[in-house]
Order: sequence, then structure tokens, then C-alpha cells
Amino acid sequence: AIELVGVAKEYVSRRGAVTAVETVDLRIAQGEFFSLLGPSGCGKTTTLRMIGGFEEPSRGQILLHGVDVTATPPNRRDVNLVFQSYALFPHLDVAGNIAFGLRRKGVARAEARRRVGEILELVELGALADRRPRELSGGQQQRVALARALVNRPRALLLDEPLGALDLKLRETMQIELKRIQREVGITFVYVTHDQGEALTMSDRIAVMNKGRIEQLAPPRELYERPRTGFVASFIGTCNVLRRAVRTVTTEGTGPVATLDAAVDERLMTALRPELGELSTGSVVELTVRPEKIVITADRPDGDVCALRGRVTEVVYMGTNTTYTVLTPGGVELVVFWQNSSDASDLAGRGDEVWLSWRPEHSY
Ligand code: ADP
Ligand code: MG
Repeated sequence: AIELVGVAKEYVSRRGAVTAVETVDLRIAQGEFFSLLGPSGCGKTTTLRMIGGFEEPSRGQILLHGVDVTATPPNRRDVNLVFQSYALFPHLDVAGNIAFGLRRKGVARAEARRRVGEILELVELGALADRRPRELSGGQQQRVALARALVNRPRALLLDEPLGALDLKLRETMQIELKRIQREVGITFVYVTHDQGEALTMSDRIAVMNKGRIEQLAPPRELYERPRTGFVASFIGTCNVLRRAVRTVTTEGTGPVATLDAAVDERLMTALRPELGELSTGSVVELTVRPEKIVITADRPDGDVCALRGRVTEVVYMGTNTTYTVLTPGGVELVVFWQNSSDASDLAGRGDEVWLSWRPEHSY
């Protein structure tokens, strides 16, 4: 549905040039919920605005449904943009706000009324059709803004941090709502957010952006379980990183495995992925492991697992889980998320010496 080929954007002012988007290549499928995720300033909004036609690329091409629209103005692109600020008309009621664009496009009154009714049902605002924007909560205003964009039946909807102004609880409700609405209307959504939880919850695929480039483009699970760069690993969720030298590399069995430096009777190893290239003894690598993959035990674990000793420095009870911070001999603190089960007694307390272990395939 949407294709970006070598798209770049530089802003030039009297103070010099700013590279907002260095280069972006991506293809978004029809009906896909696609997110651009990354820290503030990485070029998400600029990329979205170029898709919408509100900014012209400095280089590259943009195709919508196979047609080159790089030079096409926004109103002729068959896409609609939803902002964080809803920009509703204060003097019009909900139905009037939604119908506004339709009437301007010359849709007949009866047809407009039918379509507005349909959209009001979809966003669950039927009962509030004759309220003014100031009589609505933030979440309801956001729904009106969404309805106003959807009623035009664009082939794609571009959303720039649309839930950013809502409080956490409401944001979570709206995430599920937005996903439902997208599924029901079947329109392509391009969604910009800096919130990794939000992107993981809603997206079919996510492009993680950093400094004007895409670092990785993949479905949520793949991004989380197999991040390709340190940036992606630490931006998506919490992760522990150990820097260690390679002691040996063996290639028998399922593939290359590196055993890393560890203290006496500890054991650290990792499967080597092809994209890392050749690794030699002595080179320093970063071993990454997610907090929920680590098991805490009092005794040294048996079997073919990574195992490391440490002392508990912090225990934070959080209801469904407890977060342990464990100081390891190299001076690195590892974070462990422990799922609390119904028979949970205290696993370990501050100051306790414990063993941390995980399966080698859970580190990368
Ligand atoms: P994001 O949405 O990811 O926070 P933006 O796309 O808004 O990032 O901005 C990317 C970079 O481009 C930032 O460094 C920002 O300051 C710069 N930038 C954005 N818009 C303009 C503009 N109109 N003029 C100059 N620089 C801009
Ligand atoms: Mg932005």
C-alpha cells in the first residue's frame, strides 16, 4: 500500500542543515497496522509527514498503491492524518465535527448522516452525538478526531502519537480500541509513537528508528526476542548486558557457540548468530539477556545453562511480579523479573548470595 524508497529529508535554514531523516526504505502492506517507533527526534514525524505529503523529501520516492506520489499534494493522496492535538471545532457538536469534511466534499446530506451514524457506532460515541467538544473527556475527543478522519474512508490513516495526551489507564484502553477499529475498517494504519509498549500492543510490524534511520523492521515478537542491535534491545523492554571476552568458540552441534570469560565454576555462553561474523578468542562481546528469562536459585544450577553468582541488592514487590537487582562479581547489576505464583514465598532477600541462570538460547 505504501512504499518509501531511499527517502531522506534535510531541513535547511540560515543556521545550517539539519538531517531529520537520513534514509528510509520500507513497504507497508494493505490493511497493515504499521508503527514507527523511536526516541524523540529520530525522524518519525518527518517520515509520517512525508507520507502524508506535508513535507517534500529531499531525496527518494514515495509510492501509494503503486503510484508515485512524491510530488502529489496532501489532499490528493487518499490518506488522512490524525494528530495528538485533536483540533476539533468548538462550536460544532460531535456529529457536526465528523460530518464537516463530508459536506465540504459534496457528499449528499442523507448519505453523510448515514455514514456519520455508522462511524459513531464504530467509535462508540452514539450517545454523545450532540455534545460539544468541551463537554467531552480527552479520550472521547480523541475518538471524535479519529471518527472525523475515518469517515472520509481514506485508504490509509496516519497517526502521530494520537494517545500522547491521555493518562496511562485511558491510553491502554484506547490502544485496544484503536486496534479493534483498525481491524474492523481494514484500513492501513501508520502509527507513530515513542512508547515501546504501545507499539508492541498494537502493531503487525514495527520499524525501530534511531537518528533518521531504521535499525530493525520486524513483528513485535521478533523485535523483542531477537533484537539485531544493542539499541533495539535496550529500547524495546528492559535488558541486561554483560561485556565479556570470548574464551573459546566451538562449532560442533547446532552451530557456533562462544564460551565467555566467567569466574571459577560460573558458566557463560551464547549461540553465535551468522550476522555477527567470525569471532575469535579474546574479542569482547556484549551478552544480552531479558530480565524474565533469568532464574534465581540458592544452589548452583545443574545442566547446560548459563550460570552466574551474585548478591541481591534490591527487592521490589510489584504484585504480579517481583523485581530483583543482583550485583555480579564483575560489578554489573542484573535485573530479574520474577513471576509471583500463588504459593510464592520470599525467594531471596537483600544481601543474599544467589545463583542466576538461563538457557543459552535466551541470551544473544
Ligand atoms: P520525532 O517525531 O521522531 O521526534 P522529528 O521528525 O519531529 O522527530 O524530527 C527529527 C529531527 O528533525 C529533529 O532533530 C528535529 O529537530 C528536526 N526537525 C523537524 N522538523 C524541522 C523543521 N521544520 N526545521 C528544522 N528541523 C526540523
Ligand atoms: Mg514527533
